[in-house]
Amino acid sequence: MSFFVKGILLEQKKEPMLTRSTLVMRQEFEYFECDFSDVPVEELSGEQIIELARLAEIVDESDGKMLWEKLEKANLGEGGTLVIDAIDDEPYISSQMSIGIHQPEKLAAGIELCERAVSPEKTYIAMYRHILDSNFGIPGKIGKYKVKKIGGRYPAESRVYRHIPKGKNSIIVGACAMLHLARAAEENRKMTTCFVTVAGDIVKNPRNIEAPIGTTAEKLLELCGLTDEPEAIVVGGSMTGRAIFEPENETVGPTTRGVIALARSYGTYSYTCIGCGRCDHACPKALSVCAMRKFAEAGELDMLRHYDISLCIGCGACSYVCPSRIDVAATLIKAKKQIEIAKKEGTL
Ligand code: SF4
Ligand code: SF4
Repeated sequence: MSFFVKGILLEQKKEPMLTRSTLVMRQEFEYFECDFSDVPVEELSGEQIIELARLAEIVDESDGKMLWEKLEKANLGEGGTLVIDAIDDEPYISSQMSIGIHQPEKLAAGIELCERAVSPEKTYIAMYRHILDSNFGIPGKIGKYKVKKIGGRYPAESRVYRHIPKGKNSIIVGACAMLHLARAAEENRKMTTCFVTVAGDIVKNPRNIEAPIGTTAEKLLELCGLTDEPEAIVVGGSMTGRAIFEPENETVGPTTRGVIALARSYGTYSYTCIGCGRCDHACPKALSVCAMRKFAEAGELDMLRHYDISLCIGCGACSYVCPSRIDVAATLIKAKKQIEIAKKEGTL
């Protein structure tokens, strides 16, 4: 029997962002022309819904792909599952969850349209449930859709696949994309905004913000206010994002889930691996992380191939637990890309 528990326990730190309503930044909306604007929303066909997603230029925040292309390729039918990603298992981040909590009707309307486009047998919304530092209760249903509460250690996203029947077609789409789909159908409105959690231990008024795409990280931090000079600003997820140094030149887009400002004081950094093995224990994919890091740093790509580096999902758990503050995940992601390029070029 194995007592090994995959992943790491993380404080979720989602309050007060999760219970506060989303702040909508002022902007000019953009609308598109459509040949079938006179068709009532409830009578739109699957093809028309896919066309609306194309005209509205909706990008799915869960993977950065164009929604219409995903819907067109999806052929779910009998046994097929449509999963709405509102998981938000990274600390601070609640930009997808908050759509379900604060705009449930719009989310349900978007899902209904999506269902018509891909004809699944089953549909559910996935949300992370282990938010132990909040009293907030994840709802059992949003509209007529069941909310599947995904528990356990970080990262939880990969466990969503456990709930999908094997060998059946499935598609995962983001909650924000569903909201944009509802707006496209109801108002012919283009997607010009994204949903971003602005938080961190020195953010005065942390919020989920609907911001125009292209807003700078500096502007968002100004809007929420800072109590101190940040030592680190992370854009993206709090675990999977990247540190930035020029917030005035960093803009948010459809896949930006958060802007996190932190006052870090880690004391002395060693940057030298002490061989503690915490990265190995934290890895949800049970990879030999420490060994891979050594080969990656030495540029020994050939050796890395024997370690299943392709299974790394870039969750950042290894970097998070490293007492030497080594960004192990970044090293491995870079090596993974180098291997892909070398394979394409036939040099590996
Ligand atoms: S980033 Fe990759 S190696 Fe690191 S813990 Fe996640 S899956 Fe494992
Ligand atoms: S957690 Fe950091 S210090 Fe420990 S073995 Fe992994 S890389 Fe080395």
